[in-house]
Order: sequence, then structure tokens, then C-alpha cells
Amino acid sequence: MSPDRDSVEAAPGEPIAGGSELTEVAAGVLRIRAENPGPMTLDGTNTWVLHRPSDSAAVVIDPGPSLTAHAATISAVLRERGLGVEAVLLTHSHLDHSELAREFAGQVDAPLRASAPDWCTGAPLTDQEVFSAAGMTVEVVATPGHSSDSVTFAAGAYLLTGDTVLGRGTTVVAHPDGRLADYLESLQRLRRRAAAGGVSALLPGHGPVIDDPVERLDLYVGHRRERLAAVAAVLAELDLSAASIRQDDLDEVVRRVVETVYAEVPRQLWPAAALSVRAQVRYLVEQGDREASAGAAGESLGVDQDD
Ligand SMILES: [Zn+2]
Repeated sequence: MSPDRDSVEAAPGEPIAGGSELTEVAAGVLRIRAENPGPMTLDGTNTWVLHRPSDSAAVVIDPGPSLTAHAATISAVLRERGLGVEAVLLTHSHLDHSELAREFAGQVDAPLRASAPDWCTGAPLTDQEVFSAAGMTVEVVATPGHSSDSVTFAAGAYLLTGDTVLGRGTTVVAHPDGRLADYLESLQRLRRRAAAGGVSALLPGHGPVIDDPVERLDLYVGHRRERLAAVAAVLAELDLSAASIRQDDLDEVVRRVVETVYAEVPRQLWPAAALSVRAQVRYLVEQGDREASAGAAGESLGVDQDD
């Protein structure tokens, strides 16, 4: 089934309609990058348009931010290629992916589907759900962690990963909605899938296409494990176990961990790093709880009440 990755050479991006940049990654695989660059969005949010090369129907994944130029570019691309939209999908509901979604789905008269019920015109997406749209088979893979509602779409030889795996750098586990235990499990799920074959590339929510899925997923898991070990080491240095951190002290502890573990990361990313650190502390607490199995929760960190 299509889209296939037969034309491997990505055409250079061409800015059109004075707005977002279009890149034809392969026949029937179009990336339209929104002009919303930033520390969390890299060079902008990727809106993906998939269609069978011979077909006039398309699926649009993550319409992106509500920017006039971006909306105009998506419309122009669809119009120039004579494509109608059969389904609009969201990898997750963070606004840099979803803000334009309702308006866009209304304009093209297509169902909007996401795992978050608030963002769906019909039934919310469920894990392992398989549906067909624009002549393609799409499977939903629940990949919570970056956010609780994150999913990855498997279509042909591609996995559309949203912010679960990015084209560059690593992603944030957005505590308290995102949980590190979920995230690690999601990475393993994607890795198993990629290692099983048939996945030629990851199409991320930000940054370039990832042509080495298994290697990238291994790097991601390794990175998380390293960070986790570093956080645990700083806590040990402070003579604290994760479970012994009092709620009142959490902000200060997170600040010190960020300054130490994320010292090489630009300061503008420290607020995001702090979210990841909170997610890591929660993970360590949960691990400790699991190991101690009984009790010891007491006045220790209430894992869901901060922020
Ligand atoms: Zn994003």
C-alpha cells in the first residue's frame, strides 16, 4: 500500500504562499512546516499530508498552529494537487499541533480525530485501532509520555510520531500530564515495531525525517536512562532519596537538579527541563514505591499535586 518511500531524495523545501515551507519527502508524503520556530518547536511544527500518489484524497496530520500563512499554505498545496481531505488527525492536543485543527477540519468538511475526546468530532481514537482513510490503512499506536494523549500513526512504511520522537534533539516529558514510565514504555513499543521491519522512516512533529528509526529510538532510550541516572546521582549528592523530598522542598531540589544535570542545555530550555526533572523524580518515587511495595508513601512527595 501507499504511500511508499520510493523517491528517497527529499526535494528541497520550497516556501509557498509567503508562509510555510513545503517539502515532498516522498511521493504522496508532504511536509508543510509552520513558521512557528522556538525552543520547543525547533524550526516549526510539521503538518503532514499523506495521499496515494494516484489518488485525489488525502489525510492531514497535525494541522498546526493557527497562523494565517500556514492555513493558506495547506489550502494551496491541497488545491494545486487537486486533493480533498478525508480525515484530519492529531498526534496530541498541544496547541502547536492542534490550534488550527477544528477550523481546518470544518473548512475541508472532514472528521477530526484524536485520542483526546475534546478534540474529536466523532469517537476518540483508541490504541491499536485500524481505520482506512484516503485509500490508506492507518493504525493508531498509543504512545503516551510527552503528553497523556500522545499517539503515533502507522501508515505504510511510516510512523508519524508527533512529539514522542523529534527530528532533532530530544523531547520533553511534560509533567504532570506526561509520565516518564509511560514514555519509556512508548519508546519501547515504537522500537519493537521499527525493529520488526517495514518501517522506513519516522515522520516527527518537528524537525527532519528520521531515516534510522531503530538507532534513533535506541538513542532516545539511552538518553532517558542517562538523564535518570544523573538525576538520581544529584539527589544522592544532596543526601535525598526521591521519596524523601518534601513537597515544600521540591522546587528548590528541581532547580538544583536542572542546574547540574542540564548545565549544558541553553537556559531558555530550563523551564522545559524542569518539567522533565519533575517527571523523573516522580518516576524514581514510583520505582521506589514499587520496590518497597508496601507503605512508605506517607508525607513523601505527592506525585500528582505539584505545579
Ligand atoms: Zn509540538
